[in-house]
Amino acid sequence: MFDSQFYHKLIQELNTYNAALVAVSKKKPVSDIQLALDAGQQIFGENYVQELCAKQPEITDSIEWHFIGHLQRNKVKNIAPFIHTVQTIDNMNLLAELDKAASRNNRIINVLLQVYIATEETKFGFDREEVVRLFEEDVMSSFKNIRVAGLMGMASNTNDTTQVRNEFNGLFKLFRDIKPELNKNIRPVLSMGMTSDYKIALDEGSTMIRIGSALFGSR
Ligand SMILES: *Cc1c(COP(=O)(O)O)cnc(C)c1O
Repeated sequence: MFDSQFYHKLIQELNTYNAALVAVSKKKPVSDIQLALDAGQQIFGENYVQELCAKQPEITDSIEWHFIGHLQRNKVKNIAPFIHTVQTIDNMNLLAELDKAASRNNRIINVLLQVYIATEETKFGFDREEVVRLFEEDVMSSFKNIRVAGLMGMASNTNDTTQVRNEFNGLFKLFRDIKPELNKNIRPVLSMGMTSDYKIALDEGSTMIRIGSALFGSR
């Protein structure tokens, strides 16, 4: 169930940080998404291509879909016709595939580069040095149907808030360094913070948080 009371409180809090909210609706029904849309939410995040492609045609309101799961190259074509932002670019072959699919659909797709900041082997992403090198070598400018809007990261799943803060702070510093190289036509995005750690993320400079369970209940 969509928690509209929490939603409105969260939006007020985000306004003071000038940060955006991705409502993470994975494993939740379209009826929950509709309640959030009716409350004024526009940006929604999904993790699974099949689930997203089933929900997308069910919704007639204007909506901004962000893909936040691990994306396989052979599934890119399924989301390319409608996806607004892919937050989880973790290799250049994936970016090339997305650029090709965006071009075929006559679209521009925004992307975030996912950066590995946690200590868990199960997470994906570039390391910091790779990100710096990609911008130095201007690798992304050859992709004409892609706009690089910023960075995304997930902190370690731990109760150690000092560690979480340090991981977010490291990502913020990288973001600050590469910001001048980002697409000038869009607001730079630093996507970090989930239900368990979004307050720390906002303190450390997040411009976009991704909230699922606090909005829609546990999965
Ligand atoms: C599921 C998910 C979220 C939301 O997680 P909650 O803890 O439910 O807020 C955010 N980001 C990513 C990448 C996710 O996979």
